[in-house]
Amino acid sequence: MTYDLNVAHLYGDLMNTYGDVGNILALNYYAKQMDVNLNVQVVSLGDDFNAADYDLAFFGGGQDFEQEIVSQDIQDKKQALTDFIEDGGPILAICGGYQLLGQYYIGANGERLEGVGALSHYTTKQEDHRFIGDIVIKNQETGVTYHGFENHQGLTWLGEDERPLGNVEEGHGNNGEDGSEGVIYKHVYGSYFHGPILTRNPELAKRILLDALKRKYPNADLSSQEALETPATF
Ligand code: GLN
Repeated sequence: MTYDLNVAHLYGDLMNTYGDVGNILALNYYAKQMDVNLNVQVVSLGDDFNAADYDLAFFGGGQDFEQEIVSQDIQDKKQALTDFIEDGGPILAICGGYQLLGQYYIGANGERLEGVGALSHYTTKQEDHRFIGDIVIKNQETGVTYHGFENHQGLTWLGEDERPLGNVEEGHGNNGEDGSEGVIYKHVYGSYFHGPILTRNPELAKRILLDALKRKYPNADLSSQEALETPATF
């Protein structure tokens, strides 16, 4: 059987720091191995995000300039995105996208940009400093190690109902203080990892695709998809 997943590439024409669009290529690569056909559609400024139309969403990183534009437009998609998330819809959000799913983001110039508010984290600013470099984290529940490259000025603070994607082993992570990196909330995965994250961490691609498949095809036998070995790198 071939499965179909509809993917919303949120602001794909604006939010693409360090080639985050590569996550879509990686998703496609793994989807094919899992007998999944992905239909990817960019959902950007002025477009409706109809939660029922999508099985998965990807939201890449951006500079403060793009984030300011997106922060305004995304308020029109607030209810639909919140419904999608609360209904168990899987989303991968990177850096600027991760920041904007939360409550707010304070840019390098001190300006406050409103997030969607669908997740409880918020992001404050560093004084004339950025966290830049390679990063390694470990997810405490699965023991899986993730590798990436971070470059952000924002300091993200997780809410009570959120858990980190992993604990920092090398690098800075969400805020350089509490040892957390990224977020997991329901089936939303947020991270500061560029690189892009899925090309270096195929296990995460498989996890997100399985989340989407289980939600859309609750009665399907996905044992061969579950058993798929992921190579060390894309
Ligand atoms: N502009 C945000 C920050 O500097 C996000 C950057 C990014 O997406 N790489 O924190």
